[in-house]
Amino acid sequence: MAPAPDVVLIGGGIMSAHLGAMLKRLDPRLAIEVYESAPELAAESSAGWHNAGTGHAGLCELNYTPPPATPGAPVDVAKALEIFARFELSRQFWSYAVAHGLAPAPTGWIRAVPHLSFVRGEAAVAFLRARHAALAAHPFFRAMDFTADRTVLRRWAPLLVDGRTDREPLAATKVDAGTDVNFGLLARHLLEWLGAQENCRVFTGHRVTGLRRLASAWELTVRQLDSGENRTVRTPFVFVGAGGGTLPLLQAARLPVARGLGAFPIAGQWLVCENPAVVARHFAKAYGPPPPDSGALGGPHLDVRQLDGKRALLFGPFATWTTKFLHRTGRATDLPASLRPDNLATLLRTGLRQHVLVRFLVREATQSMENRLRALRRFYPEAQAADWRLADAGIRVQALKAADAGRLYFGTEVVTAPDHSLAALLGASPGASVAADIALRIIRCCFPDRLRTPDGHARMKAMLPSFDVDLTAPGAAAAYAPHSARVDALLGLDSGVSPP
Ligand SMILES: Cc1cc2nc3c(=O)[nH]c(=O)nc-3n(C[C@H](O)[C@H](O)[C@H](O)COP(=O)(O)OP(=O)(O)OC[C@H]3O[C@@H](n4cnc5c(N)ncnc54)[C@H](O)[C@@H]3O)c2cc1C
Repeated sequence: MAPAPDVVLIGGGIMSAHLGAMLKRLDPRLAIEVYESAPELAAESSAGWHNAGTGHAGLCELNYTPPPATPGAPVDVAKALEIFARFELSRQFWSYAVAHGLAPAPTGWIRAVPHLSFVRGEAAVAFLRARHAALAAHPFFRAMDFTADRTVLRRWAPLLVDGRTDREPLAATKVDAGTDVNFGLLARHLLEWLGAQENCRVFTGHRVTGLRRLASAWELTVRQLDSGENRTVRTPFVFVGAGGGTLPLLQAARLPVARGLGAFPIAGQWLVCENPAVVARHFAKAYGPPPPDSGALGGPHLDVRQLDGKRALLFGPFATWTTKFLHRTGRATDLPASLRPDNLATLLRTGLRQHVLVRFLVREATQSMENRLRALRRFYPEAQAADWRLADAGIRVQALKAADAGRLYFGTEVVTAPDHSLAALLGASPGASVAADIALRIIRCCFPDRLRTPDGHARMKAMLPSFDVDLTAPGAAAAYAPHSARVDALLGLDSGVSPP
């Protein structure tokens, strides 16, 4: 039997990739094993086509700054500031990864793409103006531009303006320093680096089918899917980074935190356009407001993406029904199999309390292609049906907690075993963009000793220069600016927007 690894990471997505790479750089002696059930790494939510690739930094997502309850009241930008600071940690770690050979030069997995928020109608324009004033007062968002002038907006994003015959007020904000990230590619780079390190191994085609607590270790049952062979792996620490596969593993582990925990999958779809004549006319991520009854699912957006070596436009996501927890390797029985006497009431209460969202999902899932095109034309009035096809996005598995009487968790939350020998991730938003912050939270909680030594502190400081600084505190952002410029240079983002 091979020696027991110090750490086992379940799942080969962006979260395990960050935690594994960060832990190994923090303590090079650690033996780390990764088990991924799919034949290739990062093929679920982290895969390029399965998410929007937006580096969420609060630059364009209107759901982080809800309109105030009283018209004219100041717009609350606290959430946008928080997301910006968390994304900055990811940018820091990625620049460190490039500088130290954990990931190649960033051509192909990150690039600068302007982030736009786009609204229509008088009230929405007034809100966007107020939101811009509130955000641009902070150093994070000083470079944000606002326009309600169609000529300027046409320069920023012609598809949003051409063909509009009405006089409806339009407005947008723009930040050139937005990013488009292929999280799947980045995860693969980091995991390939990890797998090549001493005492570390990364397995694909290996599903973890059992997880149980022994006196001083976790015991995992791992099935090699090709041969059907089972083996047992023991380890003092497990990270369940299994995306949609997390709940069944937490249930298997019988953790107190899993009692009453339910899960509700929402699959996504994109409209995709690869017509070069259309694609060449849009170089931005343009986010609209979330529909009023969509919970915190976020608004639709029209994005330029670079996927499989080709430039394409993606519009969506549209929500759709599924009972699968994973896109590639999930089964229709995933949802029913997750039901337990202790979580049935949680699901029923959620269904009752979230009836507006449920109605929204039913409407979304049953809509015709013509309705989807109608939604697209509210962004891009001249869209032609022949240019667009429907493609699958990933599945978000929302966590449902017993204690909160039907509240849906749209955030990303780290849960741990009482003795911190296991950590897991629930939820999917803001998701991949905050992977470095998630890894840091897990390290702080489960490996605090590693950070207390002068060597550990220095190593973490090298990976995340602002890990012990609150960047949202007054004065901190200005002091941090030179670091940010260095990060831009290493990530190739300093030359600004560069449409191919
Ligand atoms: C439509 C959509 C749009 C999104 N857009 C964005 C965006 O623009 N920006 C952003 O930052 N985030 C976005 N997200 C969220 C982001 O994609 C996810 O938060 C992130 O990819 C989750 O990474 P992960 O590593 O936790 O999970 P995953 O990438 O799903 O990886 C989990 C892995 O675990 C494996 N696995 C599961 N069960 C087992 C098991 N039992 N044994 C072994 N392996 C197992 C799976 O095969 C999978 O490869 C979006 C998500 C969706 C669905």
